[in-house]
Amino acid sequence: MTDIDIAIVGAGFGGLGAAIRLRQAGFTDFLLFDAGEDVGGTWRDNTYPGCACDVPSHLYSFSFARNPDWSNTFSGQAEIWAYLRRCADDFGLRPHLRFRHLVREAVWDGAAQRWRIETSGGAYTARVLISAAGPLSDPSIPDIPGIEAFQGTVFHSARWRHDVDLTGRQVAVIGTGASAVQFVPQIQPLVGRLTLFQRTPAWIMHRGARRISRAERFLYRHVPGAQRLVRTGLYWMRDGMGVGFLHPAVNRLASKISLRTLRRQVRDPELRAKLTPAYAMGCKRVLISNDYWPSLTNPNVRVEAAGIARIEPDGVVSADGVKHPADTIILGTGFHVTDAPIMRHIRGTDGRSLAETWTPSMYAHRGTTVPGFPNLFLLLGPNTGLGHTSVVLMIEAQLKLVVNALKHMRSRGIVAMEPTAEAQRDWSAEVDRKMAGTVWHTGCASWYLDASGRNTTIWPGFATSFRLKLRSFHPAEYAAVAPTLERRYADV
Ligand code: NAP
Repeated sequence: MTDIDIAIVGAGFGGLGAAIRLRQAGFTDFLLFDAGEDVGGTWRDNTYPGCACDVPSHLYSFSFARNPDWSNTFSGQAEIWAYLRRCADDFGLRPHLRFRHLVREAVWDGAAQRWRIETSGGAYTARVLISAAGPLSDPSIPDIPGIEAFQGTVFHSARWRHDVDLTGRQVAVIGTGASAVQFVPQIQPLVGRLTLFQRTPAWIMHRGARRISRAERFLYRHVPGAQRLVRTGLYWMRDGMGVGFLHPAVNRLASKISLRTLRRQVRDPELRAKLTPAYAMGCKRVLISNDYWPSLTNPNVRVEAAGIARIEPDGVVSADGVKHPADTIILGTGFHVTDAPIMRHIRGTDGRSLAETWTPSMYAHRGTTVPGFPNLFLLLGPNTGLGHTSVVLMIEAQLKLVVNALKHMRSRGIVAMEPTAEAQRDWSAEVDRKMAGTVWHTGCASWYLDASGRNTTIWPGFATSFRLKLRSFHPAEYAAVAPTLERRYADV
């Protein structure tokens, strides 16, 4: 059993950011556990054709690790992954990384005042646990009857099978979310036949990507403040787009622009009708693409909107009884967001898991800490997601809270603390109050909502307001946790 001060779960944007900020604040006794074989999280795992970020590069990166060399205004997966690997090197994180360490269980030991952590690579104890496992890391495999008996190849977009040559194949794609709109236009010219099973048509806006010139890159590298200025401009522009979600009139205007593009790109009225969303824009992620709708107008594509009845060994049967032959099924069906597996594996002071504590709905004080789970910090925890700008901004805001909390504990000699139930109740009540009536709550069914219908994923406002709320640490919202007398989890 190895004892460390701080354990970080996940080596993606959240985990790496935490490690960098901790080191800068003088906390050096930490390890990062990751189930994979490299850093990068979602940008390591998602390698599907066309995978790219729909947030501008200069904003989708750490403020404390700016990259003057982005080659495109919207970066592709390979470049973002390379950036994260570079961060790990440049900030000296490699000695802290433990790959092939899947966290199987993390249990608070009240007597020792430490987290007891079981990983696939060994057992550890730690005073502090930072979960940066990411809300979009566990692929969701749909429970469609017959899927296990399919005789062809099935894979999820986040586990792309690069060994499968799609040339000439009869491919069924299930799902039309942010991932599918990126890979469908890439594979459409290759495949023999593409049947796209759409459950809900997406709202799509223009993608204004362009290459960043060598002159611009020179400027960012050599002119002090140039890149910071661009980032600041992008920051306010993107956060300002939050207005569209909060004010129906702006939303209606954006919807009109999207529908005009659809009319221009898809001439066939029948196909256009299938692709026209019948719900308020913004209740699920607004997608950006210039080539998704045009790719669906090709003769080798059929958009099937009737729903899926079952999967047979050699094809997919739609709800209208028509069989669509397929030798390959690609699942663009998203991730376990409100039911992520890690929630079942973290157990607090009363032995209950986060998943149990969070039934029927998840709550965390300032999206980061939970009563009954001392010294636990959740990066991108409940209600910290954003549809309109960079989640890296939210991660950085949370890291400020984490570091301030740890500094407070260090200066006061506090070993363990947790938020008070009252503080968390007040925070969640405010979140729910702000959420009520917004398009995120009332617009449509989406993975933003949990099984109880509560929106537990989105921050109902601007990134700026979240950052302001997490800027200072409020000691009164937390209580020190005294050691328990007996070791309650001796069997762990
Ligand atoms: P997603 O947005 O959750 O989309 C999943 C799609 O699968 C939806 O169209 C959904 O339909 C459909 N679906 C799910 N279960 C189904 C079933 N049983 N039968 C039929 N259809 C089913 O997943 P994603 O596209 O992988 O994207 C997930 C998130 O990743 C995004 O929202 C975004 O936050 C992130 N992402 C970001 C980028 C980026 O550029 N930054 C790129 C890719 C992904 P319904 O809509 O009807 O539920």
